[in-house]
Amino acid sequence: MKLKIIKFGGSSIADAKRIRNITELVKIRSKKSNLAIVVSAIGGVTNILNSIAEKSIKGISFEKDFYELISKHVEIINNLFPKNKKKVQGDFDSYVVLLKSQIDNVEAMVSNRSEYFDTILCFGEIFSSSIISRYFSNCGIPSEQLDSRDVILTNDNFGQAFVHYQKTFNQIRNYLKTKNKIQIITGFIGANSDGKTTTLGRNGSDYTASIFGAALNASAIEIWTDVDGILSANPKIVKAAEPIPHMTYEEAMELAHAGASVIFPPSMVPALYKNIPIYIKNTFNPNYSGSKINNHRSLDNNSVIGISSLSNISLVLLQGAGLVSVKGTIGRIFSSLAGENINIILISMAFSEHSVCFAIKPKYDDLSIRALRAEFKNEIARQQIDKIKLEKNLSLVAVVGEGMRQNPGISGRVFSTLGLHKISIIAIAQGSSERNISFIVKKRDANDTLNILHREFFQKKEQKTHIYLVGIGDIGLELLQIIRKL
Ligand code: ASP
Ligand code: MG
Repeated sequence: MKLKIIKFGGSSIADAKRIRNITELVKIRSKKSNLAIVVSAIGGVTNILNSIAEKSIKGISFEKDFYELISKHVEIINNLFPKNKKKVQGDFDSYVVLLKSQIDNVEAMVSNRSEYFDTILCFGEIFSSSIISRYFSNCGIPSEQLDSRDVILTNDNFGQAFVHYQKTFNQIRNYLKTKNKIQIITGFIGANSDGKTTTLGRNGSDYTASIFGAALNASAIEIWTDVDGILSANPKIVKAAEPIPHMTYEEAMELAHAGASVIFPPSMVPALYKNIPIYIKNTFNPNYSGSKINNHRSLDNNSVIGISSLSNISLVLLQGAGLVSVKGTIGRIFSSLAGENINIILISMAFSEHSVCFAIKPKYDDLSIRALRAEFKNEIARQQIDKIKLEKNLSLVAVVGEGMRQNPGISGRVFSTLGLHKISIIAIAQGSSERNISFIVKKRDANDTLNILHREFFQKKEQKTHIYLVGIGDIGLELLQIIRKL
């Protein structure tokens, strides 16, 4: 039988009822394939743990959070194990003791904030995998917990660690050689070479699923969540947004980077490397086909598959004669920002080289201006750079689709449609992959922009067309017959 990796996100296991629901789902699937199951923390738990970590570092009371954490799990345990809760409660209690000892260690860790956070956040997945593996076993699905810290090796970048693939793949294969039960794997966590706990970034459980998929040459990776797939736009803004049935890994990555939050972008990498299809499925609507992601799709007429957006960004503009034909300026701009850990979302420079602008998250506004003023203080004094300006309250919109390269009219259509609606474009960047046209508009225009473009590229088929036939002869009659059948 082929192996499938199934990952359940926090919302799919948020309470006892939902855990029962996924148990049925797993039962059915385990008849058709071998399974390995990756779980997130129970819905909301990572945020509670984060709050506990935050408060304990500041020396503020976190009792309420702690109470919420415990009662959430105990309620689930009581509900799922009405009679035989001894073992599962015992496991839970000993993990809670461990968690407490980590929190007690806070003083020694204050200078290693991210490292400390990881030692706390990891418990969400440890709790959930322990409860779910016991419950599955009770329901006749022999399973056991796999603590991914035993197999996923990462670097020391606590909070957003990078995985050493080859060693991890070997460790996963070796570990599973002797296992017969279904593994219930902790998503989101790993360990560095000293055995210290690391996390892969918030929402990183998808990544864990993809890593296991690649290591085990799985036939598919299923990401179970609470929506019908990756949508063509944010449904909170575009009511008509619909699930995208099929997209490539690159398209999924482009969409995820520009705001569609259904899948964690790095998760594409291991799956892509082994060309394992990823399916996004809805636990609340399991029969719906969802979204499929793999390395190729037929392009038909669907070159644009989605429109995503980041609703609040700022734009930094650097301008001056001193930028023209001066080598190294761009390098200096970006290294000074990198030095402050500022992430750049979009870059645009005109051929004249007279100005360059780039987009950042607003939390970096002051820091980036300060960094640039410091870096270019000589050029500013000599008036070679006359402007370092920040523009706030902007939104980034990205039109994404694989076929744009072959379809020269797309960017024309994007900008002329927006022009017709009097929406002005503040900056544009189109990656050379031509899989993504990104541009910036005023924040107040963002919702209109998304709706207008969505209508242009997705709802054409709903438009009415009036056809008038004058003097119906044989041909006209035939045409009417054809239209009637449509
Ligand atoms: N539990 C982690 C988080 O909430 C990882 C995940 O859900 O994928 O970020
Ligand atoms: Mg999650």
